Amino acid sequence: MDIAELQEELARERRGRLAAERLLELKKTELGDANRQLSKHARQLSGTIVDQRKVVSILQGENDRVVEDLHRAKDQVVAVERLLWDALENIPDGFALFDAERRLMAANQPYLSVFREAGGVSVGDTYQSILDICLDDGLIDLEGENEDEWYDKMLDRWDGSFINPITLRFWNGMYVRMVDRRTADGGIVSLALNTTEAIAREEELRIARDKAEAADRAKSAFLARMSHELRTPMNGVVGMADLLIERELDDEAMLYSETIRNSGQALLEIINNILDFSKLEAEKLELREDVFDLEQLAQEVCMIVTPSLRDKEVTLLIDYDQFLPTQFIGDPGRIRQIILNLVGNAIKFTECGNIMLRFVGVDPVGDDGWQVHMTIEDSGIGIMDQLKDHIFGEFNQIEDGTNRRYEGTGLGLAITKKLVEVMGGEIWVDSIPGHGSCFGVKVNLRHAAPADIPRSCLPDRFKTALLWIKNPLDRSLVERQLGLFGLEARIVETAAEYDLALRAETPDVVLVGSSRLDPARAMLEGTGLGNSVVSVAEAPGEIADLPKPFTRTMLFDALNAMCDGGQTQAIDRPIRVLAAEDNATNQLVLTKMLQELDIELQIVEDGLQVVEAFRAQVPDLIFMDISMPGMDGMEATRAIRAIEGETSHVQIVAMTAHAMHGDEDRIRQAGIDHYMTKPLKKRSLEDHINKVRSRLEKDGSSDATVQGNSH
Ligand code: ADP
Repeated sequence: MDIAELQEELARERRGRLAAERLLELKKTELGDANRQLSKHARQLSGTIVDQRKVVSILQGENDRVVEDLHRAKDQVVAVERLLWDALENIPDGFALFDAERRLMAANQPYLSVFREAGGVSVGDTYQSILDICLDDGLIDLEGENEDEWYDKMLDRWDGSFINPITLRFWNGMYVRMVDRRTADGGIVSLALNTTEAIAREEELRIARDKAEAADRAKSAFLARMSHELRTPMNGVVGMADLLIERELDDEAMLYSETIRNSGQALLEIINNILDFSKLEAEKLELREDVFDLEQLAQEVCMIVTPSLRDKEVTLLIDYDQFLPTQFIGDPGRIRQIILNLVGNAIKFTECGNIMLRFVGVDPVGDDGWQVHMTIEDSGIGIMDQLKDHIFGEFNQIEDGTNRRYEGTGLGLAITKKLVEVMGGEIWVDSIPGHGSCFGVKVNLRHAAPADIPRSCLPDRFKTALLWIKNPLDRSLVERQLGLFGLEARIVETAAEYDLALRAETPDVVLVGSSRLDPARAMLEGTGLGNSVVSVAEAPGEIADLPKPFTRTMLFDALNAMCDGGQTQAIDRPIRVLAAEDNATNQLVLTKMLQELDIELQIVEDGLQVVEAFRAQVPDLIFMDISMPGMDGMEATRAIRAIEGETSHVQIVAMTAHAMHGDEDRIRQAGIDHYMTKPLKKRSLEDHINKVRSRLEKDGSSDATVQGNSH
């Protein structure tokens, strides 16, 4: 090889080496990069590993906690289950769980113990096999029920969607009430409640209640009898005292007789109150349903209490709103009692001023009901705020200086309140001590059609009336009532106006206040109206054609009497009165009360005799005692009505000491026309006789019995 070639070769080798060195350099760089990448990746990896370790350790912790919680929960479940079973074992009632196949899954001892003597029941047994044991071992007292029916009934019970509880009676006297419910998985949870004690208590209560009811009935019967027994002698006391007072007595004897009469009446009132109260307490009070005129009833109450106003400077007024209906259906006797109690109290506790019985308004209730609102205001001693509730309690009176001098049982308001409540109403009082009280009452009554005013009875010529009455309240009342009878009223206030009115147009009837009667009559002279004057009393107790206060019927009767003028024919024989009364004192009272009247009185002692006397000669009127030995008043009345048939009708008026509810209805059903409670009042005996007399006179036949029933 030449040098050139050598050099060439050398140069080539150097180039090769240089290239290799460069390559090496490049590879080194690449290796360094790769190394760096690697170590970066390694670093990232180890970071991730650290993170993962942390997560793992957290998860590990949580896992430990969950496991721990699970253990604890399991322990708790076991403890609760133990507690639950402990509790279930300790209750006296049986508890059992059945699965959907009706196999017993669990039951407490009280449940299982029932079957122990019969060989026992254990978990896994079916419901059917338990029923079999019940029947085979005679555990259940079927109380007459057929075995198969009972078995089917018990099986069917569990089929329905709702399982009705059932009470089983075991032969050992135990009562078990089975209450079963279906669980969500179709099984049954069954509770067997031991109700033996409850049933025994119920039985005791039932026996006690029966006894109490029997005692209550006995008490009511006793009260009714006592009331009768007490009223009969009281009739003698009050009646005889009444007769004594009518005689010419010296002052001392008069005082004694009046005291006897007043004490007797007070005693009767107490008897009635106590009787009422016990009826209300025993919830024995039944309300009657009669059509009545509330305005008239209020006026009647005012008339009843008029005598007690005699020694007081008290004016008693009724304000019956003219737009208010007057006809209602309800128990007029009880409404009268409520008003009488409140007006009576108002009078008792008021020495001077006014007492106003106000009928304020009605509100409709239900379909045909009306709630009537009335108030009774007085200007008396009043009631302190703190005692306003107290006075409605039984036997409660206000015990202080102003009040102690008033007599009473403290039952009046208690009875009134109960009566008002029975009528679905309420009662309250507002008062200013020293100035007066206002009792408010609301009672529910039913609607009644307006009364059928017997306008046809008044002759057609009665069209206009002239009124010369001082008191505006009386005047408006008369005017309103005349309007109901179809009469147009003209009102005058002075004598001159009266005179003028008479000249202008002759009225058909003139109604004049009692103090103006004389001038009014004088001015009528020559007008031909002399017989057409009705005097209107201006003060209670005054004698007039219309007393104060008067009722619509009284006005009607006064007008009617005028129509009859000249048309009646006096009968030429005494009225024949037949009276049946077994009690000798009462016979005497009756005889004495009637002795001054122009009547022919025959007294008999029992029902048979009254029927015999009736057959012998038909009387015009019979006063009939109800309780008599042998044939009583009701039987006798029925016998008389049977003899009469439909053609005639003698007036029969019951005299009775009975005051229990229902008596009046029974008495009327027997065919009795009227009803008087003992003690007898001379005035009402006379009223009945007078009514019969005027009917006979109107009929114009001196020997006819009264036709038609005049309820
Ligand atoms: P009594 O029969 O004793 O009057 P009540 O029950 O009717 O029984 O009344 C209870 C009490 O309420 C009365 O004793 C009286 O103190 C009081 N009282 C009732 N009404 C009035 C009234 N209008 N003014 C003042 N006090 C009255």
